[in-house]
Parts: sequence; structure tokens; C-alpha cells
Amino acid sequence: MPWSKKLWVENKLERVREVQVSTVCSICMEEIVVGSEGTCMPCSHLFHGACILKWLDKSRSCPLCRFSMPTLMHEERGVKR
Ligand SMILES: [Zn+2]
Ligand SMILES: [Zn+2]
Repeated sequence: MPWSKKLWVENKLERVREVQVSTVCSICMEEIVVGSEGTCMPCSHLFHGACILKWLDKSRSCPLCRFSMPTLMHEERGVKR
């Protein structure tokens, strides 16, 4: 393994320390409570950190809007110039 996939995923996600508006995480269908921690996709959809990491392990797109995360292969080629 050239580099950590987990790190790659975390680089793309924005960690929200305190969620301002309660949302339903569409992966586990449970509420992300106001004041708890959440993780934001680049498309600005919010999920539980653990849920989205598990999801992105199998999929490359947002479960809500199908926003595609850039692929790992593409990233490897693009960054190293
Ligand atoms: Zn969840
Ligand atoms: Zn989305």
C-alpha cells in the first residue's frame, strides 16, 4: 500500500465539531444531534463520521446526491508532479 486510504478520505471530508442543525444521517438513519460531532462531504451533506468512513470504504459517492469523490488513482496521478 503506497499510502493510507483512510488519510485520503479524511482529507476530503470536513469535520464538524458541533453540528448546528440536527440532521438525519442517511447511512444509519439516525439523528445527528445538535452539538454532536459530524462529518461533512465536499457536497456539504452531513453524516456521522464513522458512518461516512464506512460508506466510503465501499463507495465513492455521496449516498444522498451521488456526488462523486475524486478517485484514489486520479488523485495519485494528479498530486505528484
Ligand atoms: Zn450515521
Ligand atoms: Zn451529497
